[in-house]
Amino acid sequence: MADDITADILIIGTGVAGAIAGSKLAEKGLSVAFLETGKRIDRFDAVDKFWNAAIKVPESAYPNDDTAPHPLSHKIEDYYQQKGPELFRSTYVKVVGGTTWHWLGTTLRNVPSDFKTQSLYGQAVDWPIDYDDLEPFYLAAEQEIGVAGNSSIDLGSPRSGDYPMGEIPMSYLDKKFAAALEESKFEVRATPQGRNSTFHADRPECCGNASCIPVCPIQAKYDATVHVAQAEAAGATVYDQTTATKLNLGQDGKIISVDFRRADGSTGIASGKVFVVAAHGIETPRLLLNSAQEGAENGIANSSDQVGRNLMDHPSRLSWAEAAEPVWPYRGPLSTSGIENLRDGDFRKNHAAFRIEIGNDGHSWPTGAPQSTVEDLAKQGLRGDELDAAIKDKTSRHIRLASLVEQSPDAKNRVTLDPEKRDANGMPLPVINYDYSDYTRAGLKAAEEAHDEVFEMLGAKNVQHSPDIQGAGHIIGTVRMGSNPQVSVVDADLRSFDHSNLFLLGSGVFPTSATANPTLTIAALSLRAVDPIASSVE
Ligand SMILES: Cc1cc2nc3c(=O)[nH]c(=O)nc-3n(C[C@H](O)[C@H](O)[C@H](O)COP(=O)(O)OP(=O)(O)OC[C@H]3O[C@@H](n4cnc5c(N)ncnc54)[C@H](O)[C@@H]3O)c2cc1C
Ligand code: SF4
Repeated sequence: MADDITADILIIGTGVAGAIAGSKLAEKGLSVAFLETGKRIDRFDAVDKFWNAAIKVPESAYPNDDTAPHPLSHKIEDYYQQKGPELFRSTYVKVVGGTTWHWLGTTLRNVPSDFKTQSLYGQAVDWPIDYDDLEPFYLAAEQEIGVAGNSSIDLGSPRSGDYPMGEIPMSYLDKKFAAALEESKFEVRATPQGRNSTFHADRPECCGNASCIPVCPIQAKYDATVHVAQAEAAGATVYDQTTATKLNLGQDGKIISVDFRRADGSTGIASGKVFVVAAHGIETPRLLLNSAQEGAENGIANSSDQVGRNLMDHPSRLSWAEAAEPVWPYRGPLSTSGIENLRDGDFRKNHAAFRIEIGNDGHSWPTGAPQSTVEDLAKQGLRGDELDAAIKDKTSRHIRLASLVEQSPDAKNRVTLDPEKRDANGMPLPVINYDYSDYTRAGLKAAEEAHDEVFEMLGAKNVQHSPDIQGAGHIIGTVRMGSNPQVSVVDADLRSFDHSNLFLLGSGVFPTSATANPTLTIAALSLRAVDPIASSVE
Protein backbone atom coordinates (compact mmCIF):
# COMPACT_ATOMS: atom_id res chain seq x y z
CA MET A 1 0.00 0.00 0.00
CA ALA A 2 1.32 3.43 -0.91
CA ASP A 3 0.62 4.86 2.49
CA ASP A 4 2.09 2.05 4.60
CA ILE A 5 4.61 3.15 7.23
CA THR A 6 8.29 2.30 7.39
CA ALA A 7 10.90 3.31 9.97
CA ASP A 8 13.87 1.67 11.65
CA ILE A 9 12.13 1.83 15.01
CA LEU A 10 8.35 1.59 15.39
CA ILE A 11 7.05 2.73 18.76
CA ILE A 12 3.47 1.96 19.76
CA GLY A 13 2.23 4.60 22.21
CA THR A 14 3.26 8.22 22.83
CA GLY A 15 3.00 8.22 26.64
CA VAL A 16 6.03 9.00 28.75
CA ALA A 17 7.40 5.45 28.33
CA GLY A 18 7.43 5.59 24.52
CA ALA A 19 8.01 9.32 24.03
CA ILE A 20 11.04 9.61 26.28
CA ALA A 21 12.79 6.65 24.60
CA GLY A 22 11.65 7.78 21.13
CA SER A 23 13.01 11.28 21.60
CA LYS A 24 16.44 9.95 22.63
CA LEU A 25 16.51 7.44 19.76
CA ALA A 26 15.57 10.13 17.23
CA GLU A 27 18.25 12.42 18.67
CA LYS A 28 20.77 9.66 17.93
CA GLY A 29 19.80 10.07 14.26
CA LEU A 30 17.71 6.90 14.05
CA SER A 31 14.51 6.82 12.04
CA VAL A 32 11.60 6.59 14.48
CA ALA A 33 7.84 6.43 13.89
CA PHE A 34 5.13 6.34 16.54
CA LEU A 35 1.73 4.70 16.08
CA GLU A 36 -0.68 6.39 18.48
CA THR A 37 -4.34 5.45 18.73
CA GLY A 38 -5.39 8.77 20.33
CA LYS A 39 -5.84 12.32 19.07
CA ARG A 40 -3.67 15.36 19.60
CA ILE A 41 -5.09 17.47 22.42
CA ASP A 42 -5.50 21.22 22.48
CA ARG A 43 -4.83 22.28 26.10
CA PHE A 44 -7.43 25.03 26.14
CA ASP A 45 -10.11 22.71 24.76
CA ALA A 46 -9.22 20.19 27.47
CA VAL A 47 -9.53 22.82 30.22
CA ASP A 48 -12.86 23.95 28.76
CA LYS A 49 -14.14 20.41 28.48
CA PHE A 50 -13.22 19.73 32.11
CA TRP A 51 -14.86 22.87 33.48
CA ASN A 52 -18.03 22.20 31.48
CA ALA A 53 -18.22 18.48 32.37
CA ALA A 54 -21.22 17.57 34.51
CA ILE A 55 -19.29 14.69 36.09
CA LYS A 56 -15.72 15.64 36.97
CA VAL A 57 -13.56 12.52 36.85
CA PRO A 58 -9.87 12.31 35.85
CA GLU A 59 -10.81 11.44 32.25
CA SER A 60 -13.42 14.17 31.77
CA ALA A 61 -11.06 16.48 29.87
CA TYR A 62 -10.26 13.89 27.22
CA PRO A 63 -12.15 12.34 24.30
CA ASN A 64 -13.27 8.73 24.58
CA ASP A 65 -13.51 8.05 20.86
CA ASP A 66 -14.85 4.77 19.51
CA THR A 67 -11.49 4.09 17.86
CA ALA A 68 -9.46 5.00 20.98
CA PRO A 69 -11.72 3.81 23.80
CA HIS A 70 -10.45 3.98 27.38
CA PRO A 71 -11.90 3.19 30.80
CA LEU A 72 -13.84 5.90 32.66
CA SER A 73 -13.62 6.08 36.47
CA HIS A 74 -17.39 6.45 36.93
CA LYS A 75 -18.31 3.69 34.45
CA ILE A 76 -15.38 1.37 34.95
CA GLU A 77 -17.21 -1.79 33.89
CA ASP A 78 -18.17 -0.43 30.46
CA TYR A 79 -14.64 -1.00 29.24
CA TYR A 80 -13.01 -3.51 31.59
CA GLN A 81 -14.90 -6.80 31.55
CA GLN A 82 -14.46 -7.39 35.29
CA LYS A 83 -14.57 -11.00 36.44
CA GLY A 84 -13.73 -10.21 40.08
CA PRO A 85 -13.65 -10.93 42.89
CA GLU A 86 -12.44 -7.31 43.36
CA LEU A 87 -12.98 -4.41 40.97
CA PHE A 88 -9.90 -3.08 39.21
CA ARG A 89 -10.45 0.68 39.46
CA SER A 90 -7.46 2.36 37.80
CA THR A 91 -7.77 4.09 34.47
CA TYR A 92 -5.76 5.74 31.72
CA VAL A 93 -6.42 7.88 28.67
CA LYS A 94 -5.62 7.41 25.01
CA VAL A 95 -4.39 10.69 23.56
CA VAL A 96 -1.09 11.91 22.11
CA GLY A 97 1.07 12.22 25.26
CA GLY A 98 -0.85 9.49 27.08
CA THR A 99 -1.79 9.35 30.72
CA THR A 100 0.63 12.00 32.02
CA TRP A 101 -1.94 14.52 30.75
CA HIS A 102 -3.95 13.77 33.91
CA TRP A 103 -1.36 12.44 36.32
CA LEU A 104 -0.72 14.18 39.62
CA GLY A 105 3.04 14.49 39.10
CA THR A 106 4.46 12.75 42.19
CA THR A 107 7.93 11.53 41.19
CA LEU A 108 9.41 9.40 43.95
CA ARG A 109 12.13 6.87 43.36
CA ASN A 110 11.81 3.29 44.60
CA VAL A 111 13.89 2.52 47.68
CA PRO A 112 16.78 0.03 47.26
CA SER A 113 14.99 -2.81 49.11
CA ASP A 114 12.11 -2.66 46.62
CA PHE A 115 14.35 -4.43 44.11
CA LYS A 116 14.94 -7.47 46.34
CA THR A 117 11.96 -8.16 48.57
CA GLN A 118 12.28 -11.91 48.02
CA SER A 119 15.92 -11.98 49.20
CA LEU A 120 15.34 -9.59 52.09
CA TYR A 121 11.83 -10.41 53.27
CA GLY A 122 10.84 -13.68 51.58
CA GLN A 123 8.07 -11.87 49.70
CA ALA A 124 7.21 -11.51 45.99
CA VAL A 125 10.18 -11.65 43.57
CA ASP A 126 13.49 -9.82 43.13
CA TRP A 127 13.99 -7.54 40.14
CA PRO A 128 16.76 -8.53 37.69
CA ILE A 129 18.41 -5.15 38.38
CA ASP A 130 19.10 -3.36 41.61
CA TYR A 131 18.87 0.23 42.78
CA ASP A 132 22.46 1.05 41.83
CA ASP A 133 21.83 -0.11 38.24
CA LEU A 134 18.95 2.34 37.97
CA GLU A 135 20.28 5.29 39.99
CA PRO A 136 22.01 7.11 37.08
CA PHE A 137 18.83 6.74 35.04
CA TYR A 138 16.68 8.02 37.91
CA LEU A 139 18.89 11.09 37.97
CA ALA A 140 18.59 11.52 34.19
CA ALA A 141 14.80 10.95 34.33
CA GLU A 142 14.45 13.70 36.95
CA GLN A 143 16.26 16.05 34.57
CA GLU A 144 14.11 14.99 31.59
CA ILE A 145 10.79 15.34 33.41
CA GLY A 146 11.89 18.42 35.35
CA VAL A 147 11.43 17.40 38.96
CA ALA A 148 11.15 19.96 41.76
CA GLY A 149 12.47 18.58 45.03
CA ASN A 150 14.64 19.15 48.04
CA SER A 151 17.92 17.34 47.29
CA SER A 152 19.08 17.40 50.89
CA ILE A 153 16.09 15.46 52.28
CA ASP A 154 16.66 11.73 52.73
CA LEU A 155 13.67 9.89 51.27
CA GLY A 156 15.37 6.49 51.56
CA SER A 157 16.69 6.51 47.96
CA PRO A 158 20.36 7.63 47.82
CA ARG A 159 21.03 10.31 45.20
CA SER A 160 24.18 11.01 43.18
CA GLY A 161 23.03 14.50 42.16
CA ASP A 162 20.49 17.24 42.71
CA TYR A 163 16.98 17.70 41.38
CA PRO A 164 16.89 20.23 38.56
CA MET A 165 14.69 22.58 40.63
CA GLY A 166 14.10 23.38 44.28
CA GLU A 167 11.01 21.97 45.95
CA ILE A 168 7.43 23.14 45.49
CA PRO A 169 6.73 24.86 48.83
CA MET A 170 4.85 22.82 51.40
CA SER A 171 1.29 24.07 51.86
CA TYR A 172 0.05 25.67 55.08
CA LEU A 173 -1.85 22.42 55.67
CA ASP A 174 1.35 20.36 55.24
CA LYS A 175 3.07 22.53 57.82
CA LYS A 176 0.23 21.95 60.29
CA PHE A 177 0.64 18.20 59.79
CA ALA A 178 4.43 18.46 60.17
CA ALA A 179 4.12 20.44 63.40
CA ALA A 180 1.57 18.05 64.92
CA LEU A 181 3.63 14.96 64.01
CA GLU A 182 7.05 16.39 64.86
CA GLU A 183 7.94 14.08 67.72
CA SER A 184 6.23 11.02 66.23
CA LYS A 185 7.28 8.14 63.99
CA PHE A 186 5.58 9.91 61.05
CA GLU A 187 8.04 12.08 59.11
CA VAL A 188 6.30 14.67 56.93
CA ARG A 189 8.40 15.51 53.88
CA ALA A 190 7.97 17.66 50.76
CA THR A 191 7.16 15.40 47.81
CA PRO A 192 9.36 15.51 44.69
CA GLN A 193 7.09 16.47 41.80
CA GLY A 194 7.13 16.75 38.02
CA ARG A 195 5.97 20.37 38.04
CA ASN A 196 7.98 23.53 37.77
CA SER A 197 8.80 25.42 40.94
CA THR A 198 10.48 28.03 38.75
CA PHE A 199 10.45 28.86 35.03
CA HIS A 200 12.13 25.80 33.54
CA ALA A 201 12.48 24.14 30.12
CA ASP A 202 10.38 26.89 28.49
CA ARG A 203 7.44 26.20 30.80
CA PRO A 204 6.11 28.42 33.60
CA GLU A 205 6.17 27.76 37.31
CA CYS A 206 3.18 26.23 39.08
CA CYS A 207 0.70 28.91 40.10
CA GLY A 208 -1.59 26.74 42.18
CA ASN A 209 -4.63 26.34 39.89
CA ALA A 210 -5.35 23.04 41.69
CA SER A 211 -6.61 21.21 38.60
CA CYS A 212 -3.49 19.08 38.09
CA ILE A 213 -5.85 16.12 37.71
CA PRO A 214 -7.15 16.19 35.01
CA VAL A 215 -5.26 19.03 33.32
CA CYS A 216 -2.70 21.70 34.09
CA PRO A 217 -3.89 24.79 32.17
CA ILE A 218 -0.39 26.29 31.90
CA GLN A 219 1.74 23.13 31.52
CA ALA A 220 3.70 23.84 34.69
CA LYS A 221 3.14 20.11 35.27
CA TYR A 222 5.14 17.83 32.98
CA ASP A 223 3.30 15.73 30.46
CA ALA A 224 4.71 13.53 27.73
CA THR A 225 3.86 15.97 24.93
CA VAL A 226 7.17 17.54 26.02
CA HIS A 227 9.03 14.47 24.73
CA VAL A 228 6.67 13.96 21.77
CA ALA A 229 7.68 17.45 20.63
CA GLN A 230 11.37 16.71 21.22
CA ALA A 231 11.07 13.48 19.22
CA GLU A 232 9.36 15.31 16.33
CA ALA A 233 11.97 18.08 16.41
CA ALA A 234 14.64 15.37 16.05
CA GLY A 235 12.89 13.92 12.98
CA ALA A 236 10.48 11.30 14.39
CA THR A 237 7.01 10.99 12.86
CA VAL A 238 3.86 10.62 14.94
CA TYR A 239 0.91 8.87 13.29
CA ASP A 240 -1.98 9.80 15.56
CA GLN A 241 -5.44 8.18 15.46
CA THR A 242 -3.64 5.06 14.23
CA THR A 243 -4.15 1.91 16.29
CA ALA A 244 -1.74 -1.01 16.27
CA THR A 245 -3.94 -4.10 16.08
CA LYS A 246 -1.48 -6.97 15.54
CA LEU A 247 2.25 -7.64 15.60
CA ASN A 248 3.41 -9.98 12.83
CA LEU A 249 6.12 -12.59 13.18
CA GLY A 250 8.74 -13.38 10.54
CA GLN A 251 10.38 -16.73 9.80
CA ASP A 252 13.30 -16.06 12.14
CA GLY A 253 11.25 -15.37 15.27
CA LYS A 254 11.64 -11.63 14.88
CA ILE A 255 8.76 -9.18 14.55
CA ILE A 256 8.52 -7.94 10.97
CA SER A 257 5.55 -5.59 10.99
CA VAL A 258 2.49 -4.19 12.74
CA ASP A 259 -1.02 -4.11 11.34
CA PHE A 260 -2.76 -0.82 12.05
CA ARG A 261 -6.16 0.74 11.60
CA ARG A 262 -6.83 4.47 11.29
CA ALA A 263 -9.81 6.29 12.77
CA ASP A 264 -11.32 6.60 9.26
CA GLY A 265 -11.42 2.81 8.98
CA SER A 266 -8.53 2.44 6.55
CA THR A 267 -5.84 -0.10 7.40
CA GLY A 268 -2.15 -0.55 6.69
CA ILE A 269 1.09 -2.20 7.70
CA ALA A 270 4.05 -0.59 9.49
CA SER A 271 7.40 -2.28 8.97
CA GLY A 272 10.68 -1.74 10.74
CA LYS A 273 13.77 -3.28 12.24
CA VAL A 274 12.94 -2.86 15.91
CA PHE A 275 9.52 -2.71 17.57
CA VAL A 276 8.72 -1.08 20.89
CA VAL A 277 5.36 -1.54 22.58
CA ALA A 278 4.70 1.21 25.14
CA ALA A 279 0.90 1.04 25.30
CA HIS A 280 0.59 0.80 29.14
CA GLY A 281 -0.25 -2.06 31.50
CA ILE A 282 -3.61 -3.09 30.02
CA GLU A 283 -3.16 -2.26 26.32
CA THR A 284 0.32 -3.78 25.94
CA PRO A 285 -0.79 -7.31 26.92
CA ARG A 286 -4.04 -6.76 25.00
CA LEU A 287 -2.07 -6.14 21.80
CA LEU A 288 0.37 -9.01 22.44
CA LEU A 289 -2.44 -11.46 23.17
CA ASN A 290 -4.39 -10.26 20.13
CA SER A 291 -1.35 -11.11 18.00
CA ALA A 292 -1.60 -14.89 18.46
CA GLN A 293 -0.51 -16.59 15.22
CA GLU A 294 1.42 -19.54 13.90
CA GLY A 295 4.70 -19.66 15.80
CA ALA A 296 3.17 -17.66 18.70
CA GLU A 297 0.00 -19.57 19.45
CA ASN A 298 -0.46 -17.98 22.92
CA GLY A 299 0.28 -14.50 21.66
CA ILE A 300 3.46 -12.57 20.95
CA ALA A 301 6.20 -12.71 23.64
CA ASN A 302 4.13 -15.21 25.57
CA SER A 303 5.98 -18.54 25.53
CA SER A 304 6.14 -18.21 29.36
CA ASP A 305 2.34 -17.72 29.59
CA GLN A 306 3.08 -14.62 31.70
CA VAL A 307 1.63 -11.98 29.35
CA GLY A 308 -1.32 -10.35 31.11
CA ARG A 309 -0.48 -11.87 34.52
CA ASN A 310 0.55 -10.26 37.81
CA LEU A 311 -1.59 -7.17 37.34
CA MET A 312 -1.00 -4.75 40.23
CA ASP A 313 -1.85 -1.24 41.39
CA HIS A 314 -1.27 0.65 44.61
CA PRO A 315 -4.52 -0.23 46.35
CA SER A 316 -5.26 2.85 48.39
CA ARG A 317 -6.74 3.36 51.81
CA LEU A 318 -8.58 6.68 51.66
CA SER A 319 -9.45 8.44 54.93
CA TRP A 320 -10.74 11.89 55.81
CA ALA A 321 -11.53 13.96 58.88
CA GLU A 322 -12.04 17.50 60.19
CA ALA A 323 -9.02 19.22 61.70
CA ALA A 324 -9.41 20.94 65.06
CA GLU A 325 -8.59 24.31 63.51
CA PRO A 326 -8.59 25.78 59.99
CA VAL A 327 -5.85 24.37 57.69
CA TRP A 328 -7.17 26.00 54.47
CA PRO A 329 -7.21 23.20 51.87
CA TYR A 330 -8.46 23.40 48.24
CA ARG A 331 -5.42 25.36 47.10
CA GLY A 332 -2.23 24.54 45.22
CA PRO A 333 -1.14 21.22 43.69
CA LEU A 334 -3.40 18.44 44.97
CA SER A 335 -0.64 17.04 47.17
CA THR A 336 2.68 18.60 48.14
CA SER A 337 3.82 16.41 51.04
CA GLY A 338 3.75 12.87 52.27
CA ILE A 339 5.00 10.47 54.91
CA GLU A 340 7.70 8.37 53.25
CA ASN A 341 9.45 6.62 56.13
CA LEU A 342 7.02 3.68 56.31
CA ARG A 343 8.05 2.35 52.92
CA ASP A 344 10.63 -0.12 54.19
CA GLY A 345 11.47 -2.18 57.25
CA ASP A 346 11.52 -5.67 58.66
CA PHE A 347 7.71 -5.53 58.93
CA ARG A 348 7.69 -6.29 55.19
CA LYS A 349 8.11 -9.96 56.14
CA ASN A 350 4.54 -9.74 57.45
CA HIS A 351 2.65 -7.01 55.71
CA ALA A 352 2.84 -4.76 52.69
CA ALA A 353 4.58 -1.38 52.95
CA PHE A 354 2.83 1.90 52.18
CA ARG A 355 3.40 5.61 51.72
CA ILE A 356 0.97 8.20 53.00
CA GLU A 357 -0.01 11.02 50.67
CA ILE A 358 -1.27 14.16 52.41
CA GLY A 359 -3.97 15.84 50.30
CA ASN A 360 -4.42 19.57 49.75
CA ASP A 361 -7.75 18.78 48.12
CA GLY A 362 -9.91 18.62 51.25
CA HIS A 363 -12.73 16.13 50.92
CA SER A 364 -13.15 16.43 47.17
CA TRP A 365 -11.88 12.92 46.36
CA PRO A 366 -14.01 11.02 48.92
CA THR A 367 -17.17 13.17 49.03
CA GLY A 368 -17.17 15.62 46.11
CA ALA A 369 -16.68 18.55 48.54
CA PRO A 370 -16.87 21.51 48.65
CA GLN A 371 -20.12 21.25 46.62
CA SER A 372 -21.35 18.34 48.78
CA THR A 373 -20.61 20.37 51.95
CA VAL A 374 -22.83 23.18 50.71
CA GLU A 375 -25.60 20.69 49.98
CA ASP A 376 -25.28 19.03 53.40
CA LEU A 377 -25.39 22.31 55.27
CA ALA A 378 -28.31 23.62 53.21
CA LYS A 379 -30.20 20.39 53.92
CA GLN A 380 -29.66 21.08 57.62
CA GLY A 381 -31.68 24.27 57.09
CA LEU A 382 -28.83 26.80 57.16
CA ARG A 383 -29.27 29.90 55.02
CA GLY A 384 -27.65 33.29 54.37
CA ASP A 385 -24.82 34.44 56.66
CA GLU A 386 -25.20 31.38 58.86
CA LEU A 387 -24.75 29.08 55.85
CA ASP A 388 -21.81 31.16 54.65
CA ALA A 389 -20.04 30.94 58.01
CA ALA A 390 -20.68 27.20 58.29
CA ILE A 391 -19.30 26.55 54.78
CA LYS A 392 -16.17 28.52 55.62
CA ASP A 393 -15.71 26.77 58.95
CA LYS A 394 -16.23 23.22 57.62
CA THR A 395 -14.25 23.46 54.38
CA SER A 396 -11.31 25.21 56.05
CA ARG A 397 -10.88 22.13 58.28
CA HIS A 398 -11.22 19.36 55.65
CA ILE A 399 -8.25 17.01 55.63
CA ARG A 400 -7.61 13.72 53.85
CA LEU A 401 -4.94 11.04 53.66
CA ALA A 402 -4.44 8.29 51.10
CA SER A 403 -2.02 5.45 51.65
CA LEU A 404 -0.61 3.80 48.56
CA VAL A 405 -0.07 0.18 49.50
CA GLU A 406 2.34 -2.29 47.91
CA GLN A 407 0.45 -5.03 46.08
CA SER A 408 1.80 -8.59 45.80
CA PRO A 409 2.27 -10.00 42.30
CA ASP A 410 -0.18 -12.86 41.78
CA ALA A 411 -0.40 -14.81 38.52
CA LYS A 412 -4.19 -15.10 38.92
CA ASN A 413 -4.60 -11.30 38.71
CA ARG A 414 -4.62 -10.97 34.98
CA VAL A 415 -5.73 -9.37 31.74
CA THR A 416 -7.19 -11.66 29.06
CA LEU A 417 -9.32 -11.00 25.99
CA ASP A 418 -13.09 -11.13 25.75
CA PRO A 419 -14.00 -13.82 23.20
CA GLU A 420 -17.05 -11.85 22.02
CA LYS A 421 -16.93 -8.13 22.80
CA ARG A 422 -14.80 -6.03 20.47
CA ASP A 423 -14.14 -2.31 20.04
CA ALA A 424 -14.53 -0.30 16.83
CA ASN A 425 -11.05 -1.39 15.72
CA GLY A 426 -12.08 -5.02 15.97
CA MET A 427 -9.90 -5.61 19.05
CA PRO A 428 -11.32 -7.77 21.87
CA LEU A 429 -12.13 -5.84 25.07
CA PRO A 430 -9.91 -6.59 28.07
CA VAL A 431 -11.18 -9.03 30.70
CA ILE A 432 -9.82 -8.48 34.21
CA ASN A 433 -9.51 -10.94 37.10
CA TYR A 434 -8.39 -9.13 40.24
CA ASP A 435 -8.00 -9.68 43.99
CA TYR A 436 -5.75 -8.69 46.93
CA SER A 437 -3.51 -11.09 48.84
CA ASP A 438 -3.63 -11.39 52.64
CA TYR A 439 -0.22 -9.66 52.67
CA THR A 440 -1.63 -6.65 50.80
CA ARG A 441 -4.80 -6.59 52.90
CA ALA A 442 -2.64 -6.56 56.06
CA GLY A 443 -0.82 -3.52 54.61
CA LEU A 444 -4.17 -1.79 54.00
CA LYS A 445 -5.14 -2.44 57.63
CA ALA A 446 -1.81 -1.09 58.90
CA ALA A 447 -2.37 2.02 56.76
CA GLU A 448 -5.82 2.57 58.26
CA GLU A 449 -4.35 2.31 61.76
CA ALA A 450 -1.63 4.79 60.83
CA HIS A 451 -4.28 7.23 59.56
CA ASP A 452 -6.15 6.94 62.86
CA GLU A 453 -2.94 7.74 64.75
CA VAL A 454 -2.14 10.72 62.53
CA PHE A 455 -5.64 12.14 62.85
CA GLU A 456 -5.53 11.70 66.59
CA MET A 457 -2.26 13.63 66.84
CA LEU A 458 -3.89 16.43 64.88
CA GLY A 459 -6.86 16.43 67.24
CA ALA A 460 -9.08 15.78 64.22
CA LYS A 461 -12.74 14.78 64.54
CA ASN A 462 -15.26 12.84 62.42
CA VAL A 463 -12.65 10.42 61.06
CA GLN A 464 -13.91 8.31 58.16
CA HIS A 465 -12.36 5.55 56.08
CA SER A 466 -13.64 4.71 52.62
CA PRO A 467 -15.32 1.28 52.72
CA ASP A 468 -13.91 0.57 49.25
CA ILE A 469 -10.28 0.04 48.38
CA GLN A 470 -9.40 2.77 45.87
CA GLY A 471 -7.25 2.48 42.74
CA ALA A 472 -4.24 4.79 42.46
CA GLY A 473 -4.14 5.00 38.66
CA HIS A 474 -0.96 2.92 38.74
CA ILE A 475 -1.25 0.00 36.33
CA ILE A 476 1.66 -2.27 37.14
CA GLY A 477 2.75 -5.74 36.01
CA THR A 478 1.32 -7.84 33.10
CA VAL A 479 4.58 -8.19 31.10
CA ARG A 480 7.14 -8.49 33.85
CA MET A 481 10.90 -8.38 33.56
CA GLY A 482 13.10 -11.05 35.07
CA SER A 483 16.15 -13.16 34.54
CA ASN A 484 14.26 -16.40 33.98
CA PRO A 485 12.42 -16.64 30.62
CA GLN A 486 10.18 -19.37 32.05
CA VAL A 487 8.45 -16.93 34.41
CA SER A 488 8.99 -13.51 32.85
CA VAL A 489 8.35 -11.76 29.56
CA VAL A 490 11.30 -9.37 29.11
CA ASP A 491 14.89 -9.31 30.31
CA ALA A 492 16.62 -6.53 32.25
CA ASP A 493 17.00 -4.50 29.02
CA LEU A 494 13.22 -4.84 28.47
CA ARG A 495 13.81 -7.04 25.43
CA SER A 496 11.34 -9.87 24.84
CA PHE A 497 12.87 -13.27 25.59
CA ASP A 498 10.98 -14.66 22.59
CA HIS A 499 11.65 -12.00 19.92
CA SER A 500 15.03 -10.28 19.90
CA ASN A 501 13.83 -7.12 18.11
CA LEU A 502 10.85 -6.49 20.41
CA PHE A 503 11.04 -4.24 23.50
CA LEU A 504 8.28 -3.51 26.00
CA LEU A 505 8.33 -0.25 27.98
CA GLY A 506 6.21 0.99 30.88
CA SER A 507 5.08 -0.09 34.35
CA GLY A 508 3.87 -3.39 32.87
CA VAL A 509 7.45 -4.62 33.18
CA PHE A 510 7.73 -3.98 36.95
CA PRO A 511 8.06 -7.34 38.75
CA THR A 512 6.68 -5.77 41.97
CA SER A 513 4.69 -2.63 42.66
CA ALA A 514 6.81 -1.22 45.53
CA THR A 515 5.19 1.94 46.96
CA ALA A 516 6.54 4.77 44.80
CA ASN A 517 4.19 6.23 42.21
CA PRO A 518 5.51 4.47 39.09
CA THR A 519 6.22 7.09 36.45
CA LEU A 520 9.72 8.15 37.41
CA THR A 521 10.74 4.48 37.39
CA ILE A 522 9.01 4.04 33.99
CA ALA A 523 11.04 6.98 32.64
CA ALA A 524 14.30 5.71 34.15
CA LEU A 525 13.79 2.23 32.67
CA SER A 526 12.95 3.73 29.26
CA LEU A 527 16.16 5.75 29.31
CA ARG A 528 18.08 2.62 30.31
CA ALA A 529 16.57 0.73 27.34
CA VAL A 530 17.64 3.36 24.76
CA ASP A 531 21.09 1.89 24.08
CA PRO A 532 19.92 -1.74 23.76
CA ILE A 533 17.14 -0.60 21.40
CA ALA A 534 19.53 1.53 19.32
CA SER A 535 22.10 -1.23 19.03
CA SER A 536 19.42 -3.65 17.82
CA VAL A 537 18.90 -1.57 14.66
CA GLU A 538 21.04 -3.38 12.10
C1 LIG B 1 -5.46 10.09 37.97
C2 LIG B 1 -4.05 9.59 37.84
C3 LIG B 1 -3.03 10.17 38.60
C4 LIG B 1 -1.72 9.70 38.50
N1 LIG B 1 -0.74 10.30 39.25
C5 LIG B 1 0.52 9.83 39.18
C6 LIG B 1 1.56 10.43 39.95
O1 LIG B 1 1.35 11.39 40.68
N2 LIG B 1 2.80 9.91 39.86
C7 LIG B 1 3.08 8.83 39.07
O2 LIG B 1 4.22 8.38 39.07
N3 LIG B 1 2.13 8.27 38.30
C8 LIG B 1 0.86 8.74 38.34
N4 LIG B 1 -0.11 8.18 37.56
C9 LIG B 1 0.28 7.08 36.65
C10 LIG B 1 0.89 7.65 35.38
O3 LIG B 1 -0.01 8.51 34.76
C11 LIG B 1 1.25 6.48 34.46
O4 LIG B 1 2.13 5.63 35.16
C12 LIG B 1 1.97 6.91 33.19
O5 LIG B 1 1.36 8.01 32.60
C13 LIG B 1 2.04 5.72 32.24
O6 LIG B 1 2.81 6.08 31.10
P1 LIG B 1 2.91 5.10 29.85
O7 LIG B 1 3.66 5.82 28.82
O8 LIG B 1 3.40 3.78 30.29
O9 LIG B 1 1.39 4.86 29.42
P2 LIG B 1 0.37 5.91 28.75
O10 LIG B 1 0.70 7.28 29.14
O11 LIG B 1 -0.99 5.41 29.07
O12 LIG B 1 0.69 5.79 27.21
C14 LIG B 1 0.32 4.70 26.44
C15 LIG B 1 -0.03 5.24 25.06
O13 LIG B 1 -0.28 4.16 24.20
C16 LIG B 1 -1.37 4.47 23.38
N5 LIG B 1 -1.93 3.18 22.90
C17 LIG B 1 -2.53 2.24 23.65
N6 LIG B 1 -2.86 1.19 22.87
C18 LIG B 1 -2.44 1.48 21.61
C19 LIG B 1 -2.48 0.80 20.37
N7 LIG B 1 -3.01 -0.43 20.26
N8 LIG B 1 -1.98 1.42 19.27
C20 LIG B 1 -1.43 2.66 19.35
N9 LIG B 1 -1.38 3.36 20.51
C21 LIG B 1 -1.85 2.76 21.62
C22 LIG B 1 -2.29 5.25 24.27
O14 LIG B 1 -3.20 6.05 23.57
C23 LIG B 1 -1.30 6.09 25.07
O15 LIG B 1 -1.03 7.33 24.47
C24 LIG B 1 -1.42 8.62 37.63
C25 LIG B 1 -2.44 8.04 36.86
C26 LIG B 1 -3.74 8.51 36.97
C27 LIG B 1 -4.81 7.85 36.16
S1 SF4 C 1 -1.47 23.50 40.79
FE1 SF4 C 1 -2.15 24.36 38.86
S2 SF4 C 1 -0.38 25.29 37.86
FE2 SF4 C 1 0.30 23.89 39.46
S3 SF4 C 1 0.59 21.98 38.38
FE3 SF4 C 1 -1.46 21.88 39.28
S4 SF4 C 1 -2.78 22.62 37.65
FE4 SF4 C 1 -0.68 23.22 37.06
